[in-house]
Amino acid sequence: MAGSEREIAFIKGDGVGPEIVDNSKRIVDAAVEKIGAGRIKWIEALAGSEAEKKFGNRLPDESIEIIKRCGVAIKGPIETPVGKGFTSINVRLRLMFDLYANIRPVKWFPGIASPITNPEKIDLVVFRENTDDLYRGIEWKYDSAEAGTVRDFLNANLGTDIENDSGIGIKVMSKAKTERVTRMALNYAIKHKRRSITVMHKGNIMKYTEGAFREWAYNIAKTEFRSSIITEEEVAAGGSNKGKILFNDRIADNMFQQIITRPGEYDMILAPNLNGDYVSDAAGALIGNIGVLGGANIGDTYAIFEAVHGTVPKYAGQNIANPMGILSACCLMLEHIGMEKAALMIKDAVSATLKDRIATKDIARFMGSVPVGTDEFSDAVIDRLSKV
Ligand code: NAP
Repeated sequence: MAGSEREIAFIKGDGVGPEIVDNSKRIVDAAVEKIGAGRIKWIEALAGSEAEKKFGNRLPDESIEIIKRCGVAIKGPIETPVGKGFTSINVRLRLMFDLYANIRPVKWFPGIASPITNPEKIDLVVFRENTDDLYRGIEWKYDSAEAGTVRDFLNANLGTDIENDSGIGIKVMSKAKTERVTRMALNYAIKHKRRSITVMHKGNIMKYTEGAFREWAYNIAKTEFRSSIITEEEVAAGGSNKGKILFNDRIADNMFQQIITRPGEYDMILAPNLNGDYVSDAAGALIGNIGVLGGANIGDTYAIFEAVHGTVPKYAGQNIANPMGILSACCLMLEHIGMEKAALMIKDAVSATLKDRIATKDIARFMGSVPVGTDEFSDAVIDRLSKV
């Protein structure tokens, strides 16, 4: 890697996006330089409100081309209006680049106040299917002609009794999409030596979507990964899970209470799109602050890395926001491109910074320390890169 240059696209995004992305880039540059792993050449792609101002389009073709060329991008949060307006740019990017797995590692940082008594037990990875389910956006407003057509068709032909004032949304789950994300999750579990994978579903109610997700996931695990996994039933019947990944499942509502009451028992959660969205924020809350979490959106060809949190508009442009979420995403990006050492160095430097009670407002208020700004926190992380 020494001396080589790697092009990475970056999108600053909206709200606090520009300040957290800029700070994370300079931390990444400093770490990459320190380990002598070459250099990252950052290429900016506009999306969100800046792109709207410049191109009259929140996701211009120029930006899509840049992401295609680089293959890998870092993305700041982008706003999406609720209940009206344009569709989510985040969701469009995931679908457009077929980023079918959303991977969110959730691990507690010492020093961050958590609502549970043993946050150090949490070491979870949420693996969320990213392109299917209700996120396909197949829906019609209650008073639209389309909703009327669908209601009439279903009521006339398929024995339903849908009220005339009902909005319609279609939940779709594909066998092939479930299988490919399950394969990726199992390969990830093998590579990262994870202990278990729990399929989270609401298959007791939604039998042919979420129930099917569960069934297809088990089929892949049992047929393609037979020598690497063992199911809960097999363990109950006396099988040994030594050296094997425990493959089990939980109904979605139970999954929520399980990660709160028995956080140390869960290791990886494989979930369809909507469940995965909910559970990853809930898992984030267990470690005290979703502002510190990063995620990877990965497909077979492209990868886009982002913080779990949104645009936090109330802190925009004020040097208050915590950059740790996007920085965690940058670490996942560095691991993805083979610069694991730089990622490790950054994680250690962040821990050392928090250990010295240096933190942005969201964390400092629970630590009882004086908050520093986004820039100052990032300076402190860079200072500690050489010391870890
Ligand atoms: P949010 O932007 O994540 O903010 C929720 C709250 O979390 C904030 O008010 C703040 O809490 C805290 N927070 C989150 N990240 C923080 C950080 N880095 N530093 C300090 N505090 C942080 O969620 P939202 O208000 O629901 O969403 C706002 C917009 O973001 C929406 O348009 C939404 O669509 C968009 N969004 C985008 C993405 C994405 O691009 N992937 C993801 C989620 C949401 P306190 O108020 O307690 O200080």
